Amino acid sequence: MILRQVVADLGLPLSVQGCATVRESDGLAASSRLRYLSGKERGRARALGEALDAAQALGQAGEDRSHQLIAAVAARLGSAALSADYVEVVDPHRLVPVKRTGSFSLLAAAVHCGASRLIDHRFLMSRAPIVAIDGPAGAGKSTVTRALAHRLGLLYLDTGAMYRALTWLVREQGVDPADAAAIAPLLQNLDLRLLGGVDGEQQVLINGHDVSAAIRSHEVTGLVSTVAAHACVREALTAQQRAMGQRGGLVAEGRDIGTAVFPDAECKVFLTATVAERARRRALDLEQRGFPVPPLAELEATIAERDRLDSTREVAPLLQADDAAEVITDGLTIEQVISLLEDHFRERVPEDAWPGPDAPPIA
Ligand code: C5P
Repeated sequence: MILRQVVADLGLPLSVQGCATVRESDGLAASSRLRYLSGKERGRARALGEALDAAQALGQAGEDRSHQLIAAVAARLGSAALSADYVEVVDPHRLVPVKRTGSFSLLAAAVHCGASRLIDHRFLMSRAPIVAIDGPAGAGKSTVTRALAHRLGLLYLDTGAMYRALTWLVREQGVDPADAAAIAPLLQNLDLRLLGGVDGEQQVLINGHDVSAAIRSHEVTGLVSTVAAHACVREALTAQQRAMGQRGGLVAEGRDIGTAVFPDAECKVFLTATVAERARRRALDLEQRGFPVPPLAELEATIAERDRLDSTREVAPLLQADDAAEVITDGLTIEQVISLLEDHFRERVPEDAWPGPDAPPIA
């Protein structure tokens, strides 16, 4: 984190690539300093990792007060006659001490052992990571979100599909999409399910109907923002999305994920592109799905109108979270966008915290 800050502050032409901490067979973090330890000191040095492990286990058992975790580490270090330079629970990005661990924090310690000063750390996480990807229609969110989820070993959650499915139901029931009071009863006992599809695309079921294809039609697309703007709709779907993300472990895409659904997501991205570029992509997408393709000008107008409705609605409007990284996808290939997002994820959630699916086994 410190090197990244130095590189950014000085504008150095470097990219910092993080990796998991390399460890010796006895668990000590690899360091040239280990060679200054006598055999006996090396035995004592192991208490550093053991103390951090014990505090991590305490955290997993529910202890979230930093001073208690620090005291647990200090007690173990004391028994092993290691003198602590510092033991701290900090925000993993800003490295400032925190009173409570929250969903993601870093327990770090430095100790003196013989002639060496040794450092080590553990990440404290109350759930698996959450990635929030927001942005306007047609910015390419679905494709990259799905691929990113796969690469990071996280589940993919397409919240737009939920608003689309409800819009499909509103139409099917002949309800006026602008009438919140008429839509509210549909939200009672709503059975809305997202299942993992064959090619990674989500299967969407509403009250038993498989609407995976139907929700992509031009008609649903034209009405979804009106339905999604109602407070009762947002309340119901946001509650379901939060329940799905309770244990974390997902990449969720939508309009309000980083601001309203998961404001404590570890990694937030605002993905956008110009209206012209998004219309071009939407045309391609409709064509590939076998739907009729309206003229580009009409698509541009629909997209601009959807942007306007989504950004100006009263409840949870589309806006970039303060802590989200903006990625403008014009001129970038899908692969370039995915790799930018992956790098951003790794800046926010290091390998030691979430190794991902291809991590080599720890020696
Ligand atoms: O992403 P997608 O184009 O499928 O989203 C369809 C619509 O659903 C959006 O234009 C927006 O009106 C609504 N939506 C929302 N909040 C979300 C996701 C989608 O309001 N989190």
